[in-house]
Amino acid sequence: MSPNNLSDEAYGHPPLQAAAESTGEFPDGDVQIITSGGLRIPAHASILASASPVLESVIDRPLKHRSSERTIQILGVPCDAVAVFVRFLYSSRCTEEEMEKYGIHLLALSHVYLVPLLKQRCTKGLAQRLTLENVVDVLQLGRLCDAPDLYLKCMNLVYKKFKAVESTEGWKFLQNHDPLLELQILQFIDEAESRKKRTRRHREEQSLYLQLSEAMECLEHICTEGCTSVGPCDMEAGKHKGPCSKFSTCRGLQLLIQHFATCKKRNGGCTRCKRMWQLLKLHSSICEQPDVCKVPLCRFITMATSETNSESGPIIPNNLSSASVYNGYHHVYVGAGCHLY
Ligand SMILES: [Zn+2]
Ligand SMILES: [Zn+2]
Ligand SMILES: [Zn+2]
Repeated sequence: MSPNNLSDEAYGHPPLQAAAESTGEFPDGDVQIITSGGLRIPAHASILASASPVLESVIDRPLKHRSSERTIQILGVPCDAVAVFVRFLYSSRCTEEEMEKYGIHLLALSHVYLVPLLKQRCTKGLAQRLTLENVVDVLQLGRLCDAPDLYLKCMNLVYKKFKAVESTEGWKFLQNHDPLLELQILQFIDEAESRKKRTRRHREEQSLYLQLSEAMECLEHICTEGCTSVGPCDMEAGKHKGPCSKFSTCRGLQLLIQHFATCKKRNGGCTRCKRMWQLLKLHSSICEQPDVCKVPLCRFITMATSETNSESGPIIPNNLSSASVYNGYHHVYVGAGCHLY
């Protein structure tokens, strides 16, 4: 984009009279700014030079003829936008209405003439005014004017509302005229999708991990302190406690333990028992004190899994009168006086 020709003439020219009204502000200027509509805006070279290094270098260029008038051409944007731009160079201000009307032109001008404060204002102003209709145009401008924040914001909106954006004129124009940007947008959407999937998977893994770690805590708590209906046998069976802080997990686990204690198919064929085995195995795999642990079968499973690496739980004889073989067991009462090992 050259300083003298910001874009094609498609922006159109507002009536000169309207533009002229906004130009009477600096009548004693020593430089004339010439706009696309042929409008001349008088301004002060020193002010322009201090506000924009690009204008400074234009002003510092030697004149071809001593007598010739100093002029600067700012073409390709509406006259009024140039007037607003010049006023900003003087006052560092522009109204919301001006931003609404000339935001994209002002962004282009601020980029070409290196006016960071205006560029910042335009980036913010345009980001606030993004719509499905203008997002593709603003995205292109954001890329052209090196405004990464605005560019990313547009990309995100296109990604979130792609179905709707796809049917806009802006998208159709882009497809026909800028296939490289179209490809970049499609790549962005693709990457955002896989990022989303990765995050979802990570969250699911985290939640499973949390569930399991809570189940482990509850298992130890049931087997050492006892909860509402299951507890260690050295605790009085009638002395049931009230619901604990993790009771939703604890209750399910107690039901599972009660089932496990009485199920005839716990050595195979029962999915609930299989789940209990998995929890017991998980516990024994992380248990730091299997010798004194009160979780049933902890020591046994530790020993059995070190010998075999079988997927199913170790086979426990239903009659544990020969329990001395498996010393290290701890008994757990289940319900009223019913003991699990
Ligand atoms: Zn509990
Ligand atoms: Zn079962
Ligand atoms: Zn243990």
